Amino acid sequence: MVAVRFHCGHGADPADPTALALRRPCPLCMLIAETHRSRGELLRKVAPPQRAALAAETRLGAEYQWLCPRGHDRFAAKVSEMLTGTGCAKCRANAAAPAALREAGLAFMKPGLRTRTSMTEQRLRAMLGERIRLHHRVNAVHIARTFFGRSEVWPDILVPQLRIAIEYDDPGRSRRAHLGLKEASDLEKDEALAEVGWEVIRIRAGGLESLGANSIVCRALTPAVVDAVVDRMRQLRGGAAVDAIAVAASAAS
Ligand SMILES: [Zn+2]
Ligand SMILES: [Zn+2]
Repeated sequence: MVAVRFHCGHGADPADPTALALRRPCPLCMLIAETHRSRGELLRKVAPPQRAALAAETRLGAEYQWLCPRGHDRFAAKVSEMLTGTGCAKCRANAAAPAALREAGLAFMKPGLRTRTSMTEQRLRAMLGERIRLHHRVNAVHIARTFFGRSEVWPDILVPQLRIAIEYDDPGRSRRAHLGLKEASDLEKDEALAEVGWEVIRIRAGGLESLGANSIVCRALTPAVVDAVVDRMRQLRGGAAVDAIAVAASAAS
């Protein structure tokens, strides 16, 4: 077997003269990038004796022991499952337990949530705020399953009065965004929200394709796009519900 050294530095020892050098990152570094995670995040979750092995790991299918952040039993899972799967089985069961289901669909404020707020997202929020009253004290929604190991999701903008979330997607947000896994996970997030009575309106800019009836496809964010978002809200929830939270001044303009 030929030893392979990847561009990320993982793989064969650099001192090994027979090693084949590849100009791409190892499979694990690629999946970490694609799912917007970090190896450090994985290293904090793995059982401590396995940290050194995981730090050098290149295979997606390698199985490790992981610690649950809520203190449940250690569990075994492949690295790929930790990046894309549902995490701890007990957390998963708790998310579907009666107490959690009572909370499902409720929007709440998750303190200390690090949000990636781009300039475009701020403009979207400002333009939307000229049309409807936005709730600034919520940034997360309880769901009835786990999504990336958590029983909550954090859409870009929430309109809890209508149970509508708005997401802004464009390829420039990150060159690796919305390809493959990212798109699959966006759809899974929409499904998780749909299960608890929420609709997700997605603004799909910069050449991204429609993901369904709730997609607003556009080249860039303009006032007309934001008008289209509000129109979609009317179609989904009825004119009266949207009028109830409309900002009067802009309705006349
Ligand atoms: Zn690597
Ligand atoms: Zn757990």
